[in-house]
Amino acid sequence: MQTAEIQRRWLTYFGERGHTVVPSASLVSDDPSLLFTVAGMVPFIPYLTGVVPSPYPRATSVQKVIRTNDIEEVGKTPRHGTFFQMNGNFSFGDYFKEGAITYAWDLLTSSQADGGFGFQEKDLWVTVYEDDDEAIQLWRKIAGLPEERIQRLGRDSNYWSTGQPGPAGPCSEIFFDRGPAYGVDGGPATDDDRYVEIWNLVFMQYAIQNVRSKIDFDIVGELPKKNIDTGMGMERVAFLLQGVDNMYEIDQVRPVLDVASQLSGRRYGADHEDDVRMRVIADHVRSSLMLMTDGVSPSNEGRGYVLRRLMRRTIRAMRLLGYDTASFPELFAASRDAMAPAYPDVAEEWARTSGMAFAEEETFLRTLAGGTTILDVAVQDTKKVGSAVLPGDTAFLLHDSFGFPIDLTLEMAEEAGLSVDRTAFDTLMQEQRDRAKADAKNRKKAIADLTVYSDFRAQGETTFTGYDYLETETSIL
Ligand code: ATP
Ligand code: MG
Ligand code: MG
Ligand code: MG
Repeated sequence: MQTAEIQRRWLTYFGERGHTVVPSASLVSDDPSLLFTVAGMVPFIPYLTGVVPSPYPRATSVQKVIRTNDIEEVGKTPRHGTFFQMNGNFSFGDYFKEGAITYAWDLLTSSQADGGFGFQEKDLWVTVYEDDDEAIQLWRKIAGLPEERIQRLGRDSNYWSTGQPGPAGPCSEIFFDRGPAYGVDGGPATDDDRYVEIWNLVFMQYAIQNVRSKIDFDIVGELPKKNIDTGMGMERVAFLLQGVDNMYEIDQVRPVLDVASQLSGRRYGADHEDDVRMRVIADHVRSSLMLMTDGVSPSNEGRGYVLRRLMRRTIRAMRLLGYDTASFPELFAASRDAMAPAYPDVAEEWARTSGMAFAEEETFLRTLAGGTTILDVAVQDTKKVGSAVLPGDTAFLLHDSFGFPIDLTLEMAEEAGLSVDRTAFDTLMQEQRDRAKADAKNRKKAIADLTVYSDFRAQGETTFTGYDYLETETSIL
């Protein structure tokens, strides 16, 4: 079943059951506390928290999502993309647990001839919050699930809250068992590669106070209006229904992977490391395209920095596949063709996004060409003397003279099996900042009278700290 068909069935199913179909919001969230839209519920937060009355009692959407905190998983697990689509159904004080469980089970297990996804009941498992007896009863009643396929888990995995006083509640998640070829028996609690999480049902039920942490708070009462928020990973359902191994091989993503393979001449499926690289490329190219289409441009801060890192990781992965000339013209076009049927603006914005992407790649290839030899030689020298730590002054030279941000050096060193003497690097950076400050002070004294130059002086004192600062801000990238 093609992704477009999964989307169509989803919206039809919930649309026919009284849900208002709401188009996907931008990846760039309105919420200033969020860098990106990270879940299907994000555009509905004001309604779910009761800050704004909901204009409809029920809604459904297929929401574009970016999750940077999954970046290290991409290509290694079958199921983590930095970009993906989360299908949601929402109830604002309307139906609750019984309705949500009934809909989810019905849509997943109804035959494809009847408009459902046609999963076999025997392949599905669920988890529930350990104290949520009501949900357990409902799973028994509605799905007829045997006791051993309902697993009870704690607050750390099966409880939703914002981490603030306000609404909270237990979750229940649905998993697909890929079978013994993929891992050990024992259910989702023991193996998340074999048991793939496909759908999370959140029951917003309680008001919480005295929030000490995400899992440590006091429940102070029931919410007057209880809400449902669910999220089903469309790529996960797609890869399971398309009979492929992972989400990078579905119809919307695989064409990019194939271009990476053709350009590099490496066959997908021949070597594990290369396969991971091709999957990373397929994922990151799509994320970059979707981010640019939603108005993000590469830069040294915030969202633009995330985009820049995704593109640079792609380019470096291509180099590791042995291909070191521009690849975005082919990769980006393949992703456009795969995504434009679902998102026409991907094609409409193409002139702008492709121009930006190709220019960014050219610049980065030049940076790499300048510094890679220095780094390679330093890596060899380090290994020759039996060390596993690249000296801080090499990292500093790369930064200072070749424009290598420290995270790039860290990643490239890591690929060569080395760490970097970060303390020495930081000391050198600090010394450079101190020197710049001292210089500026001296200049200030010398030209104290020439107030007309004060603007220039201010600029002269600026030290570029963007990469260090942003590394903590976006943490994972
Ligand atoms: P996982 O445990 O597999 O990382 P999650 O518990 O973090 O998933 P939720 O926050 O519950 O995911 O999101 C709802 C649904 O969105 C998940 O059940 C899954 O189907 C899908 N999903 C979550 N993260 C990703 C991702 N990085 N790529 C693709 N789909 C995802
Ligand atoms: Mg996750
Ligand atoms: Mg999970
Ligand atoms: Mg989950």
